[in-house]
Amino acid sequence: MREAGLVVWLAHQRVAKMIGPGVSTAEINEQIRLTFQEHGAVPLFLNYPPDSARPFPAETCISVNEQVVHGIPGNRRLKPGEIVKVDTGCSIGGWCGDAAVTHAIGSITAKVQSLLDVTRAALNGAILALGECRKWSEVAQRIEAIVRPHRFGIVESMVGHGIGRKLHEAPDVPNYFDPEWKNDFAIRPGLVLAIEPMINLGTKEVQENRDGWTIVSRDRSFSAHFEHTVAITEDGPQRLTCEPTEAEWQARAWPDWLPPREQWLRW
Ligand code: MG
Repeated sequence: MREAGLVVWLAHQRVAKMIGPGVSTAEINEQIRLTFQEHGAVPLFLNYPPDSARPFPAETCISVNEQVVHGIPGNRRLKPGEIVKVDTGCSIGGWCGDAAVTHAIGSITAKVQSLLDVTRAALNGAILALGECRKWSEVAQRIEAIVRPHRFGIVESMVGHGIGRKLHEAPDVPNYFDPEWKNDFAIRPGLVLAIEPMINLGTKEVQENRDGWTIVSRDRSFSAHFEHTVAITEDGPQRLTCEPTEAEWQARAWPDWLPPREQWLRW
């Protein structure tokens, strides 16, 4: 899964280098498609779900501004002040990786920057909490503690997921705390989760667009989304969709296609 995660990270690196005003969402998807092709990775989003009358038509979900998730790449060209969520996944040798990043296009308002910062902090806080909490409901409370003071809307109708041989596996991984929630689960080694807070500037409520895929915030307020695939190990949580860790770097345990370290971009 680390191998698939590294290719997902590499695809996001390529996007981070080319994204900006004037770039179309189809051009972003093409960079991802090429990255997967070059590394023999199977795109997981294309034609998903396979038995559907209207499967997803691209390798990447690209959602702009009020679009929360599942946006379809196309001719839309990004403009300064917009935000774009790039969410993609692939498998290698039958093992999956899934990660999402929200990018700012040109300069954005302070409020929207705060939305991005808080959503990123929610993901990082959840990953940190995985090393300290016994149950997911405790992690979800940490996410709420990070987001609620800002009065942003935590999307509840879509959640993270287990991941492994398949993109979407049990358990559901919600980003909010509900004391009545019946599907709480223990955080233990061997569990791999795609953790993906989706946070709206306004209401938490979302709805589906007419295209049958794109999910938008009901009040059309901007929405942010960050995601990592994270493995729970005996040594604590490990991100599988990130750049090589210091330990991996020291052990020289990385593939030869890795770009030079000084070229890595962060978000
Ligand atoms: Mg996911």
